Amino acid sequence: MSSCCCCKEKQAFVGVRVVVLLGAPGAGKGTVAQYLSDNYNVLHFSTGNLLRNEGKEDTEIGREVSAIIGSGGLVGDDVVNRIVKSNLSKVFATDSLVLLDGYPRSVDQAEYLDSLGDGALKNVIRAVEIDVDHEVAVARISNRRVCSECGATFGPLDDIADCSRCGGALVKRADDEEAVVRRRLQEYVDTTLPVSEYYACRLFKISGESSPEESAREVDDVFRDFGVKKRGDDS
Ligand SMILES: [Zn+2]
Repeated sequence: MSSCCCCKEKQAFVGVRVVVLLGAPGAGKGTVAQYLSDNYNVLHFSTGNLLRNEGKEDTEIGREVSAIIGSGGLVGDDVVNRIVKSNLSKVFATDSLVLLDGYPRSVDQAEYLDSLGDGALKNVIRAVEIDVDHEVAVARISNRRVCSECGATFGPLDDIADCSRCGGALVKRADDEEAVVRRRLQEYVDTTLPVSEYYACRLFKISGESSPEESAREVDDVFRDFGVKKRGDDS
């Protein structure tokens, strides 16, 4: 059990149902989310996917979302909150563990999440922050290329001209230009970093700069503290 600055022991297992994944752009949230999906019985809810799915539904909120996304706008807190709430209530009847990725992105949203279920949800939420030096993150993102066909990501060590999965052309996204990355990092520091502070004793940190094997071990340690079993692990 890891300790923290404000209490002797981090709050451990009380039936963790929701894990919030936090980390700066370039921290490696995608990699950790993939590891968790491959090795644990988690439902991975990324805000992007939730919004895209909602936008396909012919409902009032679905039409609203697809109009906002279609015009390149940002979906507001209120709509995102409603979508997260309805998706959580759907899975809460099951005993699945939910991994939230990209939500909450502000303290306001974190407070909203805590208020669900008449405040009962608060006790079963834990946050995992992937810690990364911001210069490492900038270098990582500004050196990556993305497949224009399937969206797979490749780093500077992938010495290839075309996508190794589908043969599509590798491009550098406009979003990944250094100046844009620095702006996104600043946005993260201003808006989302306070979310980590908000979770205080419910926050567990792992390093975003370790090898894949070390990173997997750190994730396993944290999830063991949560009382969550790895798939196929009956011990
Ligand atoms: Zn591809």
